[in-house]
Amino acid sequence: MNSFEIKSKNFQETMQWGKRLAAHLKPGDIVCLCGDLGSGKTTFVKGIAQGLKIKPDQVSSPTFVLMNAYEGRMPMFHFDLYRIEREGEILGLGYEEFLYGEGVAVVEWAERLGHLSPQEALRIEFVHQGGDERLINIAAMGQRYIELLKRLAG
Ligand code: ADP
Ligand code: MG
Repeated sequence: MNSFEIKSKNFQETMQWGKRLAAHLKPGDIVCLCGDLGSGKTTFVKGIAQGLKIKPDQVSSPTFVLMNAYEGRMPMFHFDLYRIEREGEILGLGYEEFLYGEGVAVVEWAERLGHLSPQEALRIEFVHQGGDERLINIAAMGQRYIELLKRLAG
């Protein structure tokens, strides 16, 4: 199984899935989040934060900086590339050091990574269904993430 789909009925459910994912994450893991504004990416990241024992209230979209680092059960590096204009800006962040480092990297607007996209990652797409409903598609790229997906779905 390389992907599965979840229907979320409200923001609590989306957070709950983030929290559930966090239980299976380990240092070096990369979670790429795609989907329109308001589709639930940051909400999901708050759930991951909660699962990593980071106060979810601390987590906001890094509006002026492109990355925020949080310390929990392990570090979480939260990228939001909404405002990125050139891939070069990402490199300026020391991006690869964080991405393949000792914490979990979560990247909102990961589609903007272009050729800097990681070869292996968990890729999660959020689709607005009207009202509070969201479709969340979780796909594994690479063997590590196929294992992770099995545990998450199981
Ligand atoms: P993004 O980071 O993708 O722009 P946010 O998570 O910041 O999106 O915002 C999603 C908004 O939609 C929040 O205000 C949240 O309360 C609301 N919402 C309503 N239903 C859901 C749902 N099922 N999942 C996630 N967010 C939801
Ligand atoms: Mg966001």
